[in-house]
Formats: sequence, structure tokens, C-alpha cells
Amino acid sequence: MVIGLGLAGLSFAETLRLEGKSVHVIDSKKSGSSAIAAGIYNPTVLKRFNLSWNGVKFHETALPFYQSIEKRLNQNLLRRLPIHKIFSEAADHNQWIVASDREGLDFFLDSKIKHDQHQGIKTPYGYGTVKHCGRLDTATLIETYKSALGNDYQQENFDYHALEILDNSIRYKSIEASHIVFCEGYAMVDNPFFSYLPLIGSKGQILLIRSSQLSSKMILKGPIFIAPLHDDLFWAGASFEQQDKSLQTTEEGKDWVLRKIHQMIEVPFTVEEQIAQIRPTVKDRRPLVGTHSSSRRIHLLNGFGSRGVLTAPLASRWLFNAIFKNESLPDEVNISRFEKKV
Ligand SMILES: Cc1cc2nc3c(=O)[nH]c(=O)nc-3n(C[C@H](O)[C@H](O)[C@H](O)COP(=O)(O)OP(=O)(O)OC[C@H]3O[C@@H](n4cnc5c(N)ncnc54)[C@H](O)[C@@H]3O)c2cc1C
Repeated sequence: MVIGLGLAGLSFAETLRLEGKSVHVIDSKKSGSSAIAAGIYNPTVLKRFNLSWNGVKFHETALPFYQSIEKRLNQNLLRRLPIHKIFSEAADHNQWIVASDREGLDFFLDSKIKHDQHQGIKTPYGYGTVKHCGRLDTATLIETYKSALGNDYQQENFDYHALEILDNSIRYKSIEASHIVFCEGYAMVDNPFFSYLPLIGSKGQILLIRSSQLSSKMILKGPIFIAPLHDDLFWAGASFEQQDKSLQTTEEGKDWVLRKIHQMIEVPFTVEEQIAQIRPTVKDRRPLVGTHSSSRRIHLLNGFGSRGVLTAPLASRWLFNAIFKNESLPDEVNISRFEKKV
């Protein structure tokens, strides 16, 4: 039984399916962060000219994983798009050239500093291109996956008090399963089994903007991302807010994103929508994966921060192998790192 159908729950459900196991998914349809994410897959950290933690490994696992879902569900979900990293000062050039020569990063960063003009994009110091990246259409993925689950999907807010832990299984109302995996994103803070874990959460506000003059053939990265969705619609964001954990959008959030957009582009656009969501970020910036200390049947898959697209497939595989093949989880992601050592 999987609770939550964001990127975590979906990846785990798919891993079970690939391994010939059956799955029942319960999702509250509370808005999660996966459906509103830009869906950008990019294993580099462009602010620091570096690779993200396990970036190459996650990238290698995630793309074939989503491609196989695309094929099975007959739905286009991945779109390869270069990311144009807009330099903010001339000093960025040297850092970019050094980084693009580093092992691992060389596959992703095109070493050329480019100065060609793209209509409406402000690049006074030029830009560099990140290759082998793009967007996963997370909203379509979740909707299509949900439909394909059919009767194995149930829309309901999970009631923790109704969970019974039996000797060889767990029972939730009329459903019996061998294991339960909680994939609730930031809503985990209300889960009595796992709320002790340091899921901090980071609010992000985004704007959906429409412009007929902006190219849809690239993702722009300046102080924020601007990514093409469809029909002249672009995703722009996001803010990082640590204190406010509400899903309310604010005027300050909107103004902040608008200022960043104006730093990057100079074409007319209209604002279509403003959305806020909470990234499931963790104190030590690593995922939260593992089994509850009181029951070998209760598990967690969470803490993907701002990188759910690339992280979820391999983290799901780690958890699957831990549950069904008795393999050890990588120490960095195992929730046991937050348990008191005696
Ligand atoms: C503004 C923003 C932009 C982002 N952009 C990117 C990006 O470009 N690339 C990237 O890789 N990542 C991005 N992320 C991060 C990404 O969204 C997350 O890492 C990922 O989506 C987390 O997935 P999840 O399945 O753990 O959680 P969620 O997507 O939040 O899913 C949790 C699900 O569980 C359900 N649920 C919760 N509690 C219950 C309950 N009690 N009972 C039943 N169901 C329940 C919810 O309804 C929801 O469907 C972004 C995040 C934000 C906020």
C-alpha cells in the first residue's frame, strides 16, 4: 500500500509493478508539490557550477525509468531542452570553463561562452548551455498514471488511526497488504509515525506567464528558472521561503518573482496564475528513506527537496531492495541517521 501519488509514490508504485508486485495507492488529492513543479531534470547546481549530490547516478536511472512509463502509457512526458545559464558577471566565464572541463560535469556543460542574442532575453554577459537536461511533464504524468492504476487507486485522506499492524501484514479498513509506504511529501509533518524526522519544508511561489514572443526551445536559468510549458505558457520561479509554511500566495512572493523575470527577459507577458507549494526539504539536504523502528512493515520515502524528478526513481529502487531483498540502504538517506544511537 502506497500513501501519496506524487513523484515519490508514483516511482515506488512503478518499481513494485516492474518487479511483479501488486500495489494499492491512496492519495488525498491535497495538492502536492510534484504536480506544480517545473519538472526540470538537471543534475548540476548552476549557482555553484557543480554536480548535485549523486547527480549522474540519479540522471542515469531516472531517464530510462520515465521513458519506460512513456512507452507503456503511450504518453509523451519528457521533453529534452537545453538550459541556458545566463551569466550575471564576467567572472562567471572562468568558473564555467573550469567546471565544464571537470569529470562528470563535462558531459553536461558546453564549454563555450555564448554571446548570440535570443529575442527578448537579457544576456549582457553571455550564457552557457547545459546539455542532456529538460522537463518532465509531472502534472500529466500523475494524471495519466492515476488513470492507469484504475481500481488500484483510491482518493482518500489516509486515516492513521485506522491502520492495524498484524503479525504478517497490515490492514487499513478493508485492504490488507504486506507493507505500507508513506510518500506524503511535506504533509509527512502530520504523520504520527514519522513526524519526529527533521522535514523542514521550503515554500516556493511561482507564476505562470504567457508570452508569444519568448522562445519555447530552451529553459532559461538566471536568478530563477523560466521554462516553457505549452501554448506560449511559461513556468517562472521559484522563491525559497523558510518561515511561512502555508500554501497562501502573497503579493510579496508575486513581486519577487516578477522582479526576477524582468531581470531576465524584456518581452511583454501576462501573468496567468500564481501558485505556492512546499518543497519537502530536510535538515541535512538528503532524502528520508527507510523503515520505522517499531515495525518492519511501515516505510517512508520522502525528503526529495527541489530534486524529486531525478531522485525519486533510484531512491524507490533503494527502498524496494531494502524491503524485499534485505539490502542495506545508503547511510546518507537512511532515516536511522536521525535515531538516537545508544
Ligand atoms: C515551486 C516548486 C518547484 C519545483 N521544481 C522542481 C523541478 O523543476 N524539478 C524537480 O526535480 N523538483 C522540483 N520541485 C521539487 C519536487 O516538487 C519535489 O521534490 C517532489 O515533487 C516531491 O514529491 P513527493 O511525492 O515526495 O511529494 P508530493 O508531490 O507533495 O506528493 C505527496 C502526495 O501525497 C498526498 N498525501 C499527503 N498526505 C496524505 C494523506 N494523509 N493521505 C493521502 N494522501 C496524502 C498528497 O495529496 C500528494 O499527492 C519543486 C518544488 C516546488 C515547490
